[in-house]
Amino acid sequence: MYYHLLLTRRCNLNCSYCGGSEESFRDAEIQYSLEELRRFIERDPNPVIAFYGGEPLLRIPLMERIMDTIPVKHYILQTNGCFLDKVGGDYLRRFHSILVSTDGREETTDFYRGKGVYRRILKNVKMVRDRGYRGDLIARMTISENSDVYEDVTHLLKLENPAFDHVHWQLDVVWSKEGEWNNFDAWVRNSYNPGISKLVKNWYQEMEAKGKIMGIVPFIPVMKTILTGEKSLLRCGSGIDFFAINPSGKISACPISSDPEWVVGDIWKSHPLELRNSMMVGSSCLECESYGICGGRCLYANMKKHWGQEGFRKVCETVKHLIKELEDIRPKIVKLINRKMLSLKDFNYPEINNCCEIIP
Ligand code: SF4
Ligand code: SF4
Repeated sequence: MYYHLLLTRRCNLNCSYCGGSEESFRDAEIQYSLEELRRFIERDPNPVIAFYGGEPLLRIPLMERIMDTIPVKHYILQTNGCFLDKVGGDYLRRFHSILVSTDGREETTDFYRGKGVYRRILKNVKMVRDRGYRGDLIARMTISENSDVYEDVTHLLKLENPAFDHVHWQLDVVWSKEGEWNNFDAWVRNSYNPGISKLVKNWYQEMEAKGKIMGIVPFIPVMKTILTGEKSLLRCGSGIDFFAINPSGKISACPISSDPEWVVGDIWKSHPLELRNSMMVGSSCLECESYGICGGRCLYANMKKHWGQEGFRKVCETVKHLIKELEDIRPKIVKLINRKMLSLKDFNYPEINNCCEIIP
């Protein structure tokens, strides 16, 4: 099983699309002992811990103590990158995946995240590589109205020093109220969907020219599903095999909330394996023709529908556009596989559920 372990709810940044939540100030710090956490985790034969927050690297000594005392199959780190230079090299090298939040070009990242953040992050990411980290380094973007998905993703893919292995993004449509967008419909029509079309085109051209699959996270596993026909469940795993251990010790299906409706247990009384499949996406997704490929996008969005049924449908149109663009290049990819320029195995990503939700 996988666990988002929220080391604190506090964060050093104040990103415009987040700014923390009410919960940032409630139960902000962990209220259980490491021995209690260890007793919970050791009952799971295959635990994977993803350090999460708030900003987990505000609690580096705590994180390192956990890595010293609680054995797991893999550790993952999801961070805003500001304090990566403070993590000991021996600890850095033990992460399977490090996800660093950045939103693309310098002007886009600094617009959302604060002036100077882009350069600070890239300096620290370079240092992570210089200190011998060889795991998967993922640029984890939030895409909102001021983003140009084509330009911002392409910028991150082209960086060389430091280079990210993969680029993933999520749309800013769960946390923000629809009213915070000036014109979501026009942005999708004029910017986001055309940007996805161009990215898919470039992604294929790179495969054809070099036999190389660019690390665009939302495309790779979705294309695998399109190629194989193997259906996917909710790809982030929330409520299925990925759970959040909140600072209070309560366990919720998704790290975005520890409100009672999301709580499925706690570290004192629950057995890890009994949490499995405790929440699943419901109506809207179950009857959708894209469900087998999409998997449901987001449990939280499916249950909350903050933008109402019509708003939910509008976001789904972006997913369906992305799927359609990928389906359109399927025959050409099959030809590359038949010519041995590529193998189906090249689409086996991610190796483990590394906190990339896959469907933006
Ligand atoms: S496209 Fe929308 S409705 Fe369909 S499965 Fe995905 S999230 Fe659910
Ligand atoms: S995609 Fe949705 S359900 Fe999954 S972890 Fe993110 S917010 Fe939670």
